[in-house]
Amino acid sequence: MKDDSDICHVCGMEADPGVASVEYHRMYFYFCSEQCRETFLENPGLYAAGPPAGRKEILKRRTLHLAQAPDEEVAGLLVSYLGDLMGVKEVSIEGERLHVSYDLLRVTEAQIEEALTEVGLQLDDSWRERLRRAWVHDTEEIELKNLTAKPSSCCNKPPGSSD
Ligand SMILES: [Zn+2]
Repeated sequence: MKDDSDICHVCGMEADPGVASVEYHRMYFYFCSEQCRETFLENPGLYAAGPPAGRKEILKRRTLHLAQAPDEEVAGLLVSYLGDLMGVKEVSIEGERLHVSYDLLRVTEAQIEEALTEVGLQLDDSWRERLRRAWVHDTEEIELKNLTAKPSSCCNKPPGSSD
């Protein structure tokens, strides 16, 4: 049986002792990566509520537009680079369009965009794309906040019934 300090509270993978723990409501939480730590800090209430194993995925599919189509080699590198991000399920590139699906509970589009900019990739800077991105950032943030605020009222599972 694994101790709580052994698993990442966001994704359920093995925690990395090199990643600083976070104290929240007098409890300590541990993470496998800086990415998961950052995700936790955005919505600690959501991740502190229960173990990662009991959480459902919130699958998102998005198409991001790059400023220009990467050549085949860069596209290949990009697919594996993004695929390594926590929570990213599928990545494919078609011209300047980057299709990505991911679990919102582990990674947000904002984090994916940040990862792209970190390796020097430019996103399409048209007003249409900037608006779309701003809208996605807002709705994802609200969706996560709402999850923290109210536990699902749709299912009538009494508390503690899983034990
Ligand atoms: Zn993790």
